[in-house]
Amino acid sequence: MADGIAPGAQGESTLTPEFLDEWRNAAYNCYSSGHKFCREVCPVMQVTRDERHTPTTFHANVVAMEKGFLSLDDVAEDYVNCTQCGACELRCPNTLFTGDFYRFRTRTVDLVKAMRSLAVEAGIEQPGWKEWNALTDRYKNEPVLNGQPSLQENVADWAQGLDLPIGGETVLFCDCEAAFYRTSLPRAVARILKHVGYEFGLMREQWCCGGPAAEMGYAEQARRFAEHNVADWRAVGAKRILVLDPHDYIAFTEDYPAYFGDELDFEFVLVVELVAELVNEGKLQLTQPIERVVTYHDACRLNKRKGIHKAPRDILRAIPGLTFKDVDHVTQWSYCSGAGAGFAIERPEVAAEIARRRVDKAAALEIDTLVSACAWSERPLTEQGGKLERPIEVLDLMEIVAQAAGLEVG
Ligand code: SF4
Repeated sequence: MADGIAPGAQGESTLTPEFLDEWRNAAYNCYSSGHKFCREVCPVMQVTRDERHTPTTFHANVVAMEKGFLSLDDVAEDYVNCTQCGACELRCPNTLFTGDFYRFRTRTVDLVKAMRSLAVEAGIEQPGWKEWNALTDRYKNEPVLNGQPSLQENVADWAQGLDLPIGGETVLFCDCEAAFYRTSLPRAVARILKHVGYEFGLMREQWCCGGPAAEMGYAEQARRFAEHNVADWRAVGAKRILVLDPHDYIAFTEDYPAYFGDELDFEFVLVVELVAELVNEGKLQLTQPIERVVTYHDACRLNKRKGIHKAPRDILRAIPGLTFKDVDHVTQWSYCSGAGAGFAIERPEVAAEIARRRVDKAAALEIDTLVSACAWSERPLTEQGGKLERPIEVLDLMEIVAQAAGLEVG
């Protein structure tokens, strides 16, 4: 029986007192307020207009389960319909108006993760996620190659010819999508850092960060992967971990501290923030004009989840020749690529429509390039950008920085 689920007779709660202790307050806060402002920024709700796909329902379900009106079987599928972007938490009046005084913050993302985890523990699995996580467990990396196995022996193939050492005080963690699919991104990062003399190495045996498994409810697997990576960092003497993708950054700064507490004695450095610092301090000179008209896609896990929106803009504004048509980061609370939290695995059509709407907004600015700092957003945005009447190219911020620094890309 799952930790948060108790055997309940008709009309009794099937949630355990421990689960309810954690979530009752949040569930009633949302249920009794009924502002529903959050739904218009929700990328899923914008497309489906289905009441079951709202943060309101996600919280009301807990109230109904406590009362014994609904079971986990009834509601488990509702929680598939979330990219864990965090927009609803920022837009929620309960966070905005009462947060400081009552020390309250709406935590829809954590609730969705907790309910997905309950479902998996109770044996209620979504077919796509079940297969994805089984393959990740087998390969130790996410199956991002459309049927081709992402084998452990190939996890550092992206670094061929770059002469990077194993281990050291600073180690680069390369996201699965970047390591196997968008390899031009880690290659750009490595070239930039080598160019300024910033020393770093690779892991002996990098596994997936485990974040996606945690997002889909596979908590035990996520924890196992985290333990492996931490052991590898310790074995190579790492003190500092460079992180090039926002999804890994969330796992390392939110999931890992929850697993390991004070024993997690590593510094996690987001590559975008490091590069912005290098540019601002004049240590990385961007001298090659880039004649493009661009806008920036605020990745959900940087902007909404971590409040990181200034560093990437500082970098873009330092690139000569670039025309940067910005859309402020608050307006972009309602934008999403649809790529997060395994949503696209279970709901590919809705995810594609979310990405299509995102590139439509970019196209309205009459740009030729959409710049992102999230490897996972780049594949769906590229697919949709290529379908436009005037196609939009999608580049990673680090790819464009490498070009502006006069470095090879690819
Ligand atoms: S986290 Fe994002 S996708 Fe999930 S319910 Fe909230 S706004 Fe919608």
